[in-house]
Amino acid sequence: KKVALVENRTPKRYPFVNFLNHRAKKRILVTGGAGFVGSHLVDKLMMAGHEVTVVDNFFTGSKRNVEQWIGHENFELIHQDIVTPLFVEVDEIYHLASPASPPHYMFNSVKTIKTNTIGTINMLGLAKRVGAKILIASTSEVYGDPEVHPQPETYWGHVNPIGPRACYDEGKRVAETLSYAYAKQDKVSVRVARIFNTYGPRMHVDDGRVVSNFILQALRNETLTVYGRGNQTRSFQYVSDLVEGLVSLMASNFTQPVNLGNPVEYTISEFAAIIRTIVGNNNPIKSIDATEDDPQRRKPDISRAKLHLKWTPKVPLREGLIRTIAYFRGVLEKTKLSQSV
Ligand code: NAD
Ligand code: UDP
Ligand code: UDP
Repeated sequence: KKVALVENRTPKRYPFVNFLNHRAKKRILVTGGAGFVGSHLVDKLMMAGHEVTVVDNFFTGSKRNVEQWIGHENFELIHQDIVTPLFVEVDEIYHLASPASPPHYMFNSVKTIKTNTIGTINMLGLAKRVGAKILIASTSEVYGDPEVHPQPETYWGHVNPIGPRACYDEGKRVAETLSYAYAKQDKVSVRVARIFNTYGPRMHVDDGRVVSNFILQALRNETLTVYGRGNQTRSFQYVSDLVEGLVSLMASNFTQPVNLGNPVEYTISEFAAIIRTIVGNNNPIKSIDATEDDPQRRKPDISRAKLHLKWTPKVPLREGLIRTIAYFRGVLEKTKLSQSV
């Protein structure tokens, strides 16, 4: 009887994968590939026909984000912490492993520093040994609470080195410094993406960031919580635009840092009103205590990406939010179903 069951099992159906000949096919490592951005990048690389290895410790990521590829002959998932050395043979490395939302990176600040420093040294050491190109996921947080607006890559930033955000901001600044030290000293081929606020499906539902908080609050008919007066600004990029930018940056010959973000800027109060309108509820919006060291203005200058990568973000906020809200609705439905079982 057991044998019959195995024989009857329908084979898993994977998303369409392009055929690449031996020379075009690359072996690509994605650290943090089970996370929000990483898993979208993995989809793109897998569908292009590459061999993809993900290394992730599942701190903020989950197997579910990459379940569509598990078992595929081009895909491998390694459960490991990048703070410990990793030995694989690859042609390219996208180094994304690091918690990204303030509550997640502050949860264990020492670990966040280790991931971004020791973890990055390990990935640069790996790139050096195998001669791989490596792209580091840096952040707009390297500009801190900026005194220059919008922020070009030439701006050195305004970061409090001992504040609550420092474990992440300074961790990423060291990751950048390490990248250029390895490039200079060991001729490692590096790319540095300074990523601005990004949103989309597979974001953590409870990561405490503004997009997920406001969407959840609106869907649950709760009050939208604006931290402080709500006149601080952010510029929001849809995840597919970011993934296009990362792949273009890796393929380019440009080795200086590049901002990847959507330059359309909103105040947080405006953003709350937009989400409330799209969800279609008329929830109250309330101002609560501001958080410490919260950057007051943020908007990327993307001239470099336009010039060197021929890249600009394409998805308008409203369209991206509609897709993201649909995803969150689905997650809430599933949670309700599982609770009622
Ligand atoms: P995420 O938390 O969804 O993904 C990070 C992934 O890294 C998770 O899967 C997590 O489990 C894994 N990870 C964390 N520490 C690890 C460790 N020590 N070893 C192995 N795996 C580890 O976050 P995200 O939004 O997908 O961010 C991805 C990258 O992009 C991060 O480096 C982040 O700093 C950067 N970034 C993101 C944004 C954004 O708005 N999402 C903005 C700027 C920069
Ligand atoms: N490393 C790794 N995988 C490799 C090669 C190196 O994880 O394939 C790690 C290695 O353990 C070391 C770090 O990367 O701690 C930096 O390597 P590098 O060669 O620069 O330094 P060294 O080994 O000389 O200290
Ligand atoms: N914010 C808010 N309400 C929330 C969550 C965040 O007003 O429920 C604000 C936060 O103070 C910041 C902005 O939204 O000014 C973006 O915060 P987020 O944590 O998403 O990302 P950050 O850009 O600060 O890393």
